[in-house]
Amino acid sequence: SPAVRDRLRIAIQKSGRLSEPARALLASAGLSWRESRDRLFCYGESLPVDLLLVRDDDIPGLIADGVCDLGIVGRNVLAEQAGEREAAGLPVVFREWRALGFGGCRLSIAVPDGWDWQGPAQLAGKRIATSYPNLLRAWLRAQAIEADIVVLNGSVEIAPRLGQADLICDLVSSGATLAANQLKPVLDILHSEAVLAGPVTPFVDARAELAELLLRRMDGVLRIRD
Ligand code: ATP
Ligand code: ZN
Repeated sequence: SPAVRDRLRIAIQKSGRLSEPARALLASAGLSWRESRDRLFCYGESLPVDLLLVRDDDIPGLIADGVCDLGIVGRNVLAEQAGEREAAGLPVVFREWRALGFGGCRLSIAVPDGWDWQGPAQLAGKRIATSYPNLLRAWLRAQAIEADIVVLNGSVEIAPRLGQADLICDLVSSGATLAANQLKPVLDILHSEAVLAGPVTPFVDARAELAELLLRRMDGVLRIRD
């Protein structure tokens, strides 16, 4: 990462919920690109700002490794991976630079429809399925609740029906997926949206000015949208 570079490289989701709004925001900030044939890399034309199209989960690591300078990713992913690095004794070298106002969702605790919800103390001794073990562990610890975390990387919402877990902690926007699985959200442990992520330490080369220019323009766009 100490390599000196005179172009800024931003990682965005290749295909998914954040892809189009991320590109639209950057385009509104005056960026334009020429796409490579494999559509993994977009070469910046109006400014020396290139895009790397990747899986959202790879974005924090790409920033940590200095492969990319900035990224647009859900706060849920950024915070989970920050927690994961902390738990592993690694320095957390990325942070949220700006909230971007799209991709809104909540990381919620959801219990079977039939439960008479009394409050968090009810979770003691239960098995909770999630793809966000670090965020859930931190929340449970703060509530002084001991529960078992069952880590699943997809289809978390069917875990209670399969008997893999008693309840879940998952992303919710409309709640339709939960309802279809006879679950109901009872509390939110994180309010998420897409964020601009960047390094904790400032750039020391030409990227510093580029990042400042980009932030100024993005702030202008976000202010008009409000
Ligand atoms: P990738 O192939 O890049 O790994 P993905 O399947 O992990 O994609 P998406 O489902 O496209 O990711 O979600 C990307 C982000 O969109 C989430 O991390 C979250 O921040 C946000 N988001 C908004 N609403 C929802 C929702 N209802 N469910 C899941 N994610 C949501
Ligand atoms: Zn993903």
